[in-house]
Amino acid sequence: MSRQIDSLIIGAGQAGLAMSRCLAERGIDHEVVERGRIGERWRSQRWPSLRLLTPGWMTRLPGAQLARESDGFLASADLVKRLQGYASDFAAPVTENCEILAVERMADRFRVATSRGTRIARSVVIATGACDRPRLPSWASKLSLAIHQVTPGSYLTPDLLPSGGVLVVGASATGVQLAREIRRHGRNVTLAVGRHVRAPRRYRRQDLFDWLEESGFLAEARPAGAENGALLRQPSLQLVGDPTGGNIDLPALAGEGIRLVGRVTDAQGLQVKLAEDLTEQCRAAEERRHILLRAIDAHIERAGLCTDHDPAAWSAPLEPAAAPECLDLRAEGITSVLFATGYARRYPWLHLPVTNTAGELIQHGGITAIPGLYALGLPFMRHRASAFIDGVGRDAEALAPMIAAQLGAARPIAV
Ligand SMILES: Cc1cc2nc3c(=O)[nH]c(=O)nc-3n(C[C@H](O)[C@H](O)[C@H](O)COP(=O)(O)OP(=O)(O)OC[C@H]3O[C@@H](n4cnc5c(N)ncnc54)[C@H](O)[C@@H]3O)c2cc1C
Repeated sequence: MSRQIDSLIIGAGQAGLAMSRCLAERGIDHEVVERGRIGERWRSQRWPSLRLLTPGWMTRLPGAQLARESDGFLASADLVKRLQGYASDFAAPVTENCEILAVERMADRFRVATSRGTRIARSVVIATGACDRPRLPSWASKLSLAIHQVTPGSYLTPDLLPSGGVLVVGASATGVQLAREIRRHGRNVTLAVGRHVRAPRRYRRQDLFDWLEESGFLAEARPAGAENGALLRQPSLQLVGDPTGGNIDLPALAGEGIRLVGRVTDAQGLQVKLAEDLTEQCRAAEERRHILLRAIDAHIERAGLCTDHDPAAWSAPLEPAAAPECLDLRAEGITSVLFATGYARRYPWLHLPVTNTAGELIQHGGITAIPGLYALGLPFMRHRASAFIDGVGRDAEALAPMIAAQLGAARPIAV
């Protein structure tokens, strides 16, 4: 027999749990359905050495404010514990090991088939994550089978890669972190650099995120008329959760012996073609860095704060050495390619006309064209930090009253 429910939340990461908390506060009958366990991404789809690049205080979730001084960088396992603790504190109704198989419309309700029975729900919140599956470039399938291909979701440690050099493709947060880890294990690493943002870990005596929070930068609303596709492709900041406060930008990586080359544009067998725009990419990254620093400076001035200037943060980065136009992987001794090329989302179980040709959800601020169907946790969904642990709660708090209004009186349904 089908279970009747007011609201069904798909996914028990930070977004699904934040939504659950906001619905629970309103007495809305709901269930969170998770195909793995609570915080599954952080358990099985992140590499073991990963630490959050946001400080510990940025793991605030609705109803569970953390002390402002908790600013270390959490390991994935610690975040899992925090999410589990959060869920048990308000007895979140999570059903684990329950996969969504199909979501269909049935009159004014949703019929949701799961691996553990059917639910009939009056509203559905999709919280399956912005970083759902690796986005691989089309040339990946043209690489020789002799080359070991790995994604951040399947990478574990450098020792598990075949011996030889490694080409890391992508120089945002994941690419630079993994390039450095592999290099520090004595491997030759080549880093193919595309669009990126060079960011300082600390500026004017504070962590970058402290400033971005205080200046209101993270809370900035989604720009009016912004196109979803462009927002989904924003590069992450070149940062690492390094307790010593170290930077992980290209000059630092080059200093550790990582070879920097241009963006990969194509491949055939063991030949990889590179763009000749490394210098332009680095200059554009510098401009993005200056936008960040200028926003912080303007805030410091507005607020009349007394902090020393930080001229080193403005110093020009190293100009990259002349980069090759192509790589012969065999001649270079490269045996593995690691794709740090971002993430895509797929909703094969969503049998409703709310995805575009790229398979991405069509939504505005988390609201879809189908009454009762919502999304949470997508980049820049309502504001700049919508997909951050610390930002998702704000969006959940904004959507919860809309869900309550759609459901009418928030009354539990007997099941
Ligand atoms: C490598 C990496 C590092 C990051 N570091 C930070 C950081 O330092 N700070 C920060 O704020 N953010 C960080 N993020 C961004 C963001 O916080 C994470 O992506 C986070 O996991 C998103 O949480 P979520 O709840 O939106 O989605 P997820 O954590 O992806 O949760 C979605 C859940 O839905 C489940 N699910 C998916 N499909 C189904 C289905 N069909 N049926 C049932 N369940 C399903 C999944 O198993 C998963 O548990 C990072 C992201 C990545 C990839």
